[in-house]
Amino acid sequence: MKLPGGVEFIISRLNEAGHRADIVGGCVRDRLLGKEPNDYDITTDATPDEMHKIFSDVRTLDTGIKHGTLTVIIDSTPYEVTTYRLDGKYSDARHPDSVSFTEKLSDDLSRRDFTVNAMCYNAKDGYTDLFFGKRDLESRIIRAVGDPVVRFSEDALRILRALRFASTLDFHIEEKTSQAIFEVRELLLRVSAERIFTEWKKLVAGVGAYRIIREYSSVISLIIPEISKLHLPAKENFFTASPEMRELSLFALSCDNPAEAYISAMQRLRSDNKRKGFGASVLSAINLPSSTREELHLLLVRCGAECAVGVLNLKRLLGVSNAVDMDLLMNIIDSGECYKVADMKINGEDLMSLGICGKNIGRTLETLLVKIASGEIKNEREELLSFVTSDK
Ligand code: ATP
Ligand code: MG
Repeated sequence: MKLPGGVEFIISRLNEAGHRADIVGGCVRDRLLGKEPNDYDITTDATPDEMHKIFSDVRTLDTGIKHGTLTVIIDSTPYEVTTYRLDGKYSDARHPDSVSFTEKLSDDLSRRDFTVNAMCYNAKDGYTDLFFGKRDLESRIIRAVGDPVVRFSEDALRILRALRFASTLDFHIEEKTSQAIFEVRELLLRVSAERIFTEWKKLVAGVGAYRIIREYSSVISLIIPEISKLHLPAKENFFTASPEMRELSLFALSCDNPAEAYISAMQRLRSDNKRKGFGASVLSAINLPSSTREELHLLLVRCGAECAVGVLNLKRLLGVSNAVDMDLLMNIIDSGECYKVADMKINGEDLMSLGICGKNIGRTLETLLVKIASGEIKNEREELLSFVTSDK
């Protein structure tokens, strides 16, 4: 696989100035797996000051420079170029108290989390694989670099990263690494919610998510205690579902009050409001009946099209709904039937002219909408108005 032009440019610039440079970490792993990497990271023996000089005529960003990372932008693509680094002491299992630069590539590779993430490559020297990452990649194994208890104690997020990579790559976690995860799992409680949620989202989306969540439920319940009485849906259904639906199914099956539990978990994990709001609406509506046309129409009125589709998808994942229900729902939506206030043949102003005011306007419109959906009245102006008048 050829390296991208931007990477070749950066490496040859560093070489011309007498430095070694390699692509490193996730991009090496992905290339060996035959996958196009998301991004390329470069490791070098040039110091930040030397890099500044070498790339003085190129657009760069200094965001990570304290940790030795210069972002070099080539053709609008950012590349992180980092000086060989040793992480200092970790007193909080989160961040190194300090980082120091080193001239030894082996130091830089040994600070990395897993053997499959600790390889580097350049065209001249080929692969440098001090911890047998290639062998582990072939055996599909996640193994900590060095003593796993020490490595997880330095940075507890690595516990969740092990689960995440095992899930996304569909790998097994090596015995000692796995034992260490169970042994020191409570250190995860010290890791920030943002870092946890980033890894959790990738974990739940992975091909191996079902297996990993089941095997490591005692770890998952530390980051999401709401689902500690864990129940999983049927494996075949979980496999084909979207990450969001997978997540919701765990709450639907494992909690007494799934919507409330979901909101509390998402708030703690600092989820964005969109994910949280959508999930909570779907879980609140999960027990509404949804097999007849009328029931589906009422579901649409109650929570809108996006959420109703979500409810049916989740029910399907839970094994309590089928493709016919979804077809019926789509048919109601596509046939232009009235399921929201904006579709109604009367509006708030009509109600005001009948003497209805304030909050009663909204309430009346909603009542009418439910009656339309249940077939009690038609969405016709005269009929709606006379119903309101007679009901007053
Ligand atoms: P992805 O494909 O998700 O980006 P990645 O392996 O590139 O996976 P990153 O989080 O981008 O993961 O990190 C890049 C590299 O930095 C890793 O491959 C690993 O070598 C190292 N690394 C990242 N986080 C840690 C950590 N917490 N502890 C030790 N090494 C780490
Ligand atoms: Mg990466």
